[in-house]
Amino acid sequence: MKYSKLLLSSILAGLVFIPLLSAQGKGISESLAKEAQQLSEAALEENIAYEVVESLTTEVGARLAGSEAEKRARSWAVAKLKELGFENVHEEPFEVPLWERGIERAEIVSPFPQQLTVTALGGSVATPEEGVVGELIRFSSVKELEAQPQGSLKGKIVFIDEIMTRTQDGSGYGEAVGKRRQTAYEAYKKGAAGALIRSVGTSSHRFAHTGQMKTITEITEEIDSVPTAALSAPDADQLTRALERTDSIQIRLQLTPKFEPASISGNVIGEIVGTESPEEVIIIGGHLDSWDLGTGAIDDGAGIGITVAAARLIKDHYPNGLKRTIRIVMWGSEEVGLVGAKAYADAHADELDNFIVAAESDFGAGKIWKFNSFFAEEKLNYLSEIADVLRPLGIAKGDNKASSGPDVGALKAKGVPIVSLQQNGWDYFDLHHTPNDTLDKIDPDELAQNVAAYAAFVYLAAQIEDDFRAEDSDIN
Ligand SMILES: [Zn+2]
Repeated sequence: MKYSKLLLSSILAGLVFIPLLSAQGKGISESLAKEAQQLSEAALEENIAYEVVESLTTEVGARLAGSEAEKRARSWAVAKLKELGFENVHEEPFEVPLWERGIERAEIVSPFPQQLTVTALGGSVATPEEGVVGELIRFSSVKELEAQPQGSLKGKIVFIDEIMTRTQDGSGYGEAVGKRRQTAYEAYKKGAAGALIRSVGTSSHRFAHTGQMKTITEITEEIDSVPTAALSAPDADQLTRALERTDSIQIRLQLTPKFEPASISGNVIGEIVGTESPEEVIIIGGHLDSWDLGTGAIDDGAGIGITVAAARLIKDHYPNGLKRTIRIVMWGSEEVGLVGAKAYADAHADELDNFIVAAESDFGAGKIWKFNSFFAEEKLNYLSEIADVLRPLGIAKGDNKASSGPDVGALKAKGVPIVSLQQNGWDYFDLHHTPNDTLDKIDPDELAQNVAAYAAFVYLAAQIEDDFRAEDSDIN
């Protein structure tokens, strides 16, 4: 009380230069907010996002990084963006190593002979043609494996039985993914002949979840690893029960993946060019590649569909474009280690100052429930003001710690403001990287809610007479 009285009298006396009022963005006008909400309402009546995902998953299907299928996906993307009226549609190719799975088989040899459901981890080395046989040694975490003496597991098959926690925001994945990245290398140090991990996933179905070990670029440099596969959750439970009944279980593991050091991947770009400041760009998109087991519907056909549909809806309503440019980026080779994201950030390094904001949709097809930003402190009023516009869609205001989609991380690291329109990921890791990642898992209404949120957000970012950076910001 005392303080504010003092402040008020100081302001009146001209002693304080009202920093409180100047330290925020100009704000969103009522008319802009209204237009954005109208776009949202229109999006809820449309089906374009679903049609785009259906087209991609049907006409291309799975599209592994660096593969012939990913090349077909790029051709599909170029044709689709042109068909939908985007401008400056083109591919930006880059090199990537190609890893392709072969035979993948595991079985209990003794004392309870039976097949197990496994899939090789991306980047795994091969076993000998006939496979390897070794005694199964279980660890409850990869940390426990790390703690073993070097060379102490000669000829054994390591089994990491670490369970992933189901959460709405996907935070359980961040914790669980360590075993997928580290096991093959740790097992090698201990002298093991092969390794199995409980899938990084939350479902109890009998599918194993694949996923990359270290990034494909790191793998090219570090080959000291053992053949490693993921087990479905019920198979991991089965092994644990079997181990409770006997002292020694013999496992045969056979993996025959192939590795080519150089193949071609690429990003695909399309724009709706701005009318007043075409050089200022709003970036939205998803990743075009997928794992090879399903058809990449939720990961990340959905992200492609959502962002393309949002931009397309804006074009329908504003055929001449908005003030700023809206750019769709479909990143290639995300799954194997964000290779496209790095290529994109490098290729556009001299343009970064003009990137107003970037957002990637890559967390499935569930409803958006929270809006998070990564804006300059003095522009935080936009976190609240955009959240106000999104609220009718059931979206809450988040915080300023947006973690971003994986591919915009490289832009965020260079100072580009980002947002995350955070989806409900409760079921995401039931399907993630499995054969079950298919179109039927997408609810068209939930997908349309995503489009509604993206359309409103993109519209505002493209129209406000301000940006999300600090006034004196000067990024390189
Ligand atoms: Zn993804």
